[in-house]
Amino acid sequence: MVKKFIIKGLVQGIGYRPFVAKIADELNIAGWVRNTGGIVTVMACGSEEDLKSFHRKLSFDVPTGGFVTDIRIENVDNSDEFRLSEKGTGFVILESDEDVQENLPLIPADIATCDTCKSELLDPANRRYMHPFISCTICGPRYSIIEKLPYDRDTITMADFEMCDDCRAEYTGKKDRRRHAQTIACKDCGPSLKFVRLKYKITDNVTECGNVDNIVDIYNENDIVSEISRSSQLIKSGGILAIKDIGGYHLACDPFNEKAVAALRILKHREAKAFAVMFEDVDKVREFCNVDNFEADLLESPARPIVLVRRREDVSFPQNVCLTSPDIGAMLPCNPVQIMLVHECGSLIMTSGNASRDVLEIDNDRMTAWLQERVNSGELPEDVPVGILSHNRRILRPMDDSVMKVVRGRKQFIRRGRGHVPNPIPVDISGEIFAAGGDLKSSFCYVKDGLAYVSQYLGDLEAVSCQQFYKNEMTGMEQIFGFKPEAVVCDLHPGYFSRKMAAQLAEDRALPISYVQHHKAHVAAVIAEHHLQGQVLGFAFDGTGYGEDGTVWGSEVFIWDGKGNMERVAHMKPVKLIGGNEGAKNCDTILTGMLHAAVQDDKDTNPNAKLIAAAIDNNINTVVSTSMGRWFDAMSAHLDICHYNSYEGQAPIELENIVYTNSDKGIIAREFIYSVADFILTQAKKYQIKQVVLSGGTFLNRILLERTIDILEAEGFQVYISEQLPPGDGSICLGQAYLAHFNILHHKLRTPS
Ligand SMILES: [Zn+2]
Ligand SMILES: [Zn+2]
Repeated sequence: MVKKFIIKGLVQGIGYRPFVAKIADELNIAGWVRNTGGIVTVMACGSEEDLKSFHRKLSFDVPTGGFVTDIRIENVDNSDEFRLSEKGTGFVILESDEDVQENLPLIPADIATCDTCKSELLDPANRRYMHPFISCTICGPRYSIIEKLPYDRDTITMADFEMCDDCRAEYTGKKDRRRHAQTIACKDCGPSLKFVRLKYKITDNVTECGNVDNIVDIYNENDIVSEISRSSQLIKSGGILAIKDIGGYHLACDPFNEKAVAALRILKHREAKAFAVMFEDVDKVREFCNVDNFEADLLESPARPIVLVRRREDVSFPQNVCLTSPDIGAMLPCNPVQIMLVHECGSLIMTSGNASRDVLEIDNDRMTAWLQERVNSGELPEDVPVGILSHNRRILRPMDDSVMKVVRGRKQFIRRGRGHVPNPIPVDISGEIFAAGGDLKSSFCYVKDGLAYVSQYLGDLEAVSCQQFYKNEMTGMEQIFGFKPEAVVCDLHPGYFSRKMAAQLAEDRALPISYVQHHKAHVAAVIAEHHLQGQVLGFAFDGTGYGEDGTVWGSEVFIWDGKGNMERVAHMKPVKLIGGNEGAKNCDTILTGMLHAAVQDDKDTNPNAKLIAAAIDNNINTVVSTSMGRWFDAMSAHLDICHYNSYEGQAPIELENIVYTNSDKGIIAREFIYSVADFILTQAKKYQIKQVVLSGGTFLNRILLERTIDILEAEGFQVYISEQLPPGDGSICLGQAYLAHFNILHHKLRTPS
């Protein structure tokens, strides 16, 4: 009996074909398996009984990172198709067939080095001992190096490297675990590392032409073990190392070396934000942090995100690394270079290497130039050595580390990137839609066949480099997945870059466009992710979003009727505040505005209070705002905790951190946060809608979220938050797509003029 299986799902780049071949061999099934533009086709000949268990096993125990969404079976006579297998004996893996295109193209996210590869890496007897690019069918870079589907050697940047005979033998070997491992390489044929140490005094090495060439110590490219030991030596001697990783550069140093950490802060211009730390394994994390099983699973998951875990009170950790944070952003090594470095050096600070731009750096020359410029600036202490460990495999798209935490048994993204993008999120959305997202903490999504492909974190679109990144990612995703959206949706904000991109796309392709209010999109994103049916009471609390009345919204309560209508039923009292960038960052100015609105000017200690009040009274550069974020800012200034947001959300974060100190200020801060939770409970009791959605960046506040969940659940409400996307603006693209889908159903779309 011959049957054809057409398998859809995430089945490329995870070793699915070798997996199928192994099952076939076990069951004595003859035939072949082939990749076809994102789906896998299997022709199988065997007894009815064996074909049945074959079918069952095809979707069971799928290799790491993959999943099967659908298997279609066709009965086949002894046709020409089947005879393909006669070329070989038994069961064969055929080359990819590029001509046939089918739906549901999927490509896995980058996958952390698997345990087997890790033990080979550290085994002196293995031929890939200390090989920095070891990988196999179930691990290694994927999305960051793919040009287009199908996922194959030719379509990834490993195409730059010709396989040696040994690797080719494994690649084609019948039972080899690297059979058809597209990233296969070894020290004879793969990419290589290069360590360069930067020198401080630029006068040391002036060339005849007058050009300054002050980079020294360029070693033999193939001397791999040596590159790692030189790098380790630099770190151990208190240096800072820029490392080209899977998705771009990291900057690393020893967290226990105070001088190195201080120098890293100067180098990065990062004074106020905690650094993430890479530990060798979960046990090492537990030496400093309390890690529950859920958190341990996240740390060890193939995506290897940074996970915020609570510091132990009985063990100290260098203050300059965590600053006021009660947590450590902990992560485990996710690639061979990191495994080797942490193995040699112990724990390492790992922070994004953004160079001078707002986007993670992937280019060796730009990174070198920026580092050299920083070294030349004279700001760094000269006894802190600086080096670069780069490699010659091209990265096609920057991929920042994902950052997560666990709150009341739910996972929460702070940033969604490496290891999770481009894994799609199943949603009840019909049609093919492009949703442009927002401009802050930006990300967009394409929806196709009920799957939402959300882009990675793209940064704030005020920065030109982030705008370019946004455009590149759009082009890249369309090229890889072949998206052809039938409708476009974006934010209401007339000044948003993302809205311009959406309008451009709609105009170029004559597509209908719709506009969705920012906070409605927040709530809708959670509804879509959890497939909620019926009425929902939705809270969207954040710093800023363009309201339907043109004012700034940010403390919105909505009722969703389950049929496409979302009604704004409550919000904080609108307050007139100073507008613009400064108005959102300067907490003292915000506090003055709040006090002035409450006719409490006599309690204001801000020396500029009179000036600010006059500006507000005369409507000079003012906005009317219901922003919840501004209340947290004002409270932070009022308690003399943080007066200026040097990074987004700093004042609310510091306000949260002080609660853990149990000081007098901490008690007041906690009561303030609890009062926000009480407001939510009051609203929930008023409307008596069982399903409650909490959305918006304000819910990154752990104390607020835990308190709100606790008191709502105690009253019998079901609480939903974003678990697959960040609660902040990184999720609004999904909400836009969901609401646009209802607009399409109700024909509310506008065709661009
Ligand atoms: Zn592996
Ligand atoms: Zn090789």
